[in-house]
Amino acid sequence: MRILIADDDDELRDLTEMVLSSAGYNVSSFPNGKLAWEALKKSGADMAVLDINMPEMDGLELLDLIRADERFKEMPVMLLTARKGMSERAQGLERGADDYLTKPYENDELIKRVKLLAQAYPANG
Ligand SMILES: [Mg+2]
Repeated sequence: MRILIADDDDELRDLTEMVLSSAGYNVSSFPNGKLAWEALKKSGADMAVLDINMPEMDGLELLDLIRADERFKEMPVMLLTARKGMSERAQGLERGADDYLTKPYENDELIKRVKLLAQAYPANG
């Protein structure tokens, strides 16, 4: 299971990468949506964990590109945000996110939710 991570917060990105890789996932991480999208188009992924607020391209814009692309439209996407606004959460889910986690998250909760998403959407090999 290959997971694409995008977060402009260096510390949190490193933490997310560490938590998921120690849980056995193959992760690659990027500091903005634009770089993450370039990498996704080039190398693919089985799941994405995206911060919403990022420079260059934010998580919702990247989510739109993912859902509009035949190759990735079924890919599970989890959104991360420091904000607790319900409107942002609703916006993310409405635009096709599968799950949503508010930062700072509990490491165990991130792992459990990723595991659930992985079960719901098994990777294609
Ligand atoms: Mg951010």
